[in-house]
Amino acid sequence: MGGSGASTGSQNRSQRRARRARIALYAVRAGLSVTVRDPRPGVVDKACGEGLMPGALAALLELGIDPAGQALTGIRYIAGKRAAAASFRDGPGRGVRRTTLHAAMREAALRAGVVIEQGLVTDVTQDDAGVEADGTRAQFLVAADGLHSPLRRSMGLEGRPASFRRYGLRRHFPLAPWTSHVEVHWADSTEAYVTPVAPGLVGVAMLTSARGSFDEHLARFPALQSKLPTSEGSAVMGAGPLRQRALSRVNCRVLLVGDAAGYVDALTGEGVALALAQARSAVRAIADDNPGRYEREWHTITRRYRLLTAGLLGATRVPPLRRALVPAATRLPRVFAATVTSLARPA
Ligand SMILES: Cc1cc2nc3c(=O)[nH]c(=O)nc-3n(C[C@H](O)[C@H](O)[C@H](O)COP(=O)(O)OP(=O)(O)OC[C@H]3O[C@@H](n4cnc5c(N)ncnc54)[C@H](O)[C@@H]3O)c2cc1C
Repeated sequence: MGGSGASTGSQNRSQRRARRARIALYAVRAGLSVTVRDPRPGVVDKACGEGLMPGALAALLELGIDPAGQALTGIRYIAGKRAAAASFRDGPGRGVRRTTLHAAMREAALRAGVVIEQGLVTDVTQDDAGVEADGTRAQFLVAADGLHSPLRRSMGLEGRPASFRRYGLRRHFPLAPWTSHVEVHWADSTEAYVTPVAPGLVGVAMLTSARGSFDEHLARFPALQSKLPTSEGSAVMGAGPLRQRALSRVNCRVLLVGDAAGYVDALTGEGVALALAQARSAVRAIADDNPGRYEREWHTITRRYRLLTAGLLGATRVPPLRRALVPAATRLPRVFAATVTSLARPA
């Protein structure tokens, strides 16, 4: 899912610039031509829980992208011997290997005629009529360059760093999935997210504020650890700090999309759904030559995610509240089910 590019729109013949396959696909549909630029060649892997919520899957299918994976029917919270489960009411999500997802998105973008170049976007200048990125002129630049977005920084949009820092670590294990739910195992300062991603492959992502290796974190979850063939796990990929702030999403003709636009945490597994919704909104704003509208829509699109994730994070930083979370979810199944339903909706 990466890149950056320039294009000639068939609607108004003006050049446009955007990043990443999903943005490119929305832009092509809007009659714009796009070039995607990403420094990493081919299909890109990254640390991710790899759970596509039903809303994210619906948005991908609507774009004609149908990546192979494992159906996800709901979410189960587990702490020791207690568990609370809720199903997705309006159809399943899907566990999809990140490389499978990127390959499918990349292929769809290439099929739609998008040019994908290998390279960094580093030097950006702009005037009233357009943007120049490393010598390429376009009308707009969409920067979807991830959590640590170099373009967010260089455009003066970087917000203050978070004081509470969480990190993600992900590993895959070759074994048959034992559940169609995303399992979230809770321990002090760390959660383990189990996502089936292929018939013989299970992903485990740790989200934690504690120091330590993947295996040290896994040792906090003895029941989960006993299920995993730990000596056969893949290499560990990491990401973080997760909390990233942007002062604004728009600097004249440059628009930040996805994690670059600001990120709270991966706790609710909504990153892809949000990035897709932001991409759609950014492209509409560009097509209407009204980038400021994207800033306003970004707040609406992400409001529930920001409130819920920040609320959950704040509560679960307090050890007694953290330990009370799963027992509360078992005692209040309707509240838990309503929360899961809200996560499943398109962003
Ligand atoms: C541990 C963890 C678990 C997660 N679990 C889930 C989950 O289960 N479900 C879910 O939906 N989301 C999850 N997320 C969130 C999800 O991974 C992200 O929200 C999503 O990948 C954001 O995509 P993006 O395009 O904004 O950024 P990225 O996917 O990070 O892509 C950024 C791209 O920009 C490129 N780039 C960087 N600098 C430049 C530059 N200067 N010029 C050009 N290109 C550049 C990079 O090479 C990269 O390819 C998780 C995240 C983490 C860390």
